[in-house]
Amino acid sequence: MPNYVTINEATCTACGNCVSLCPQGILYIDEATNKCKVTDGSKCDRLKGCERVCKSKSIKIS
Ligand code: SF4
Ligand code: SF4
Repeated sequence: MPNYVTINEATCTACGNCVSLCPQGILYIDEATNKCKVTDGSKCDRLKGCERVCKSKSIKIS
């Protein structure tokens, strides 16, 4: 399956903005690492809402 979602963990601040916004519910904050992660990147709608709300530009949709 394709993965359309790439998260740069080096710059992610775990703010949760993308998690709250994502209509597909595929983003979450991993408590072990305190970074955003994706469950199933193939379910992404590719409309890039998360890119727009990420102030550190840590999430990219392809
Ligand atoms: S582009 Fe949309 S569906 Fe895909 S991860 Fe971002 S907010 Fe979720
Ligand atoms: S919006 Fe950006 S900084 Fe915030 S949790 Fe998502 S990827 Fe991380």
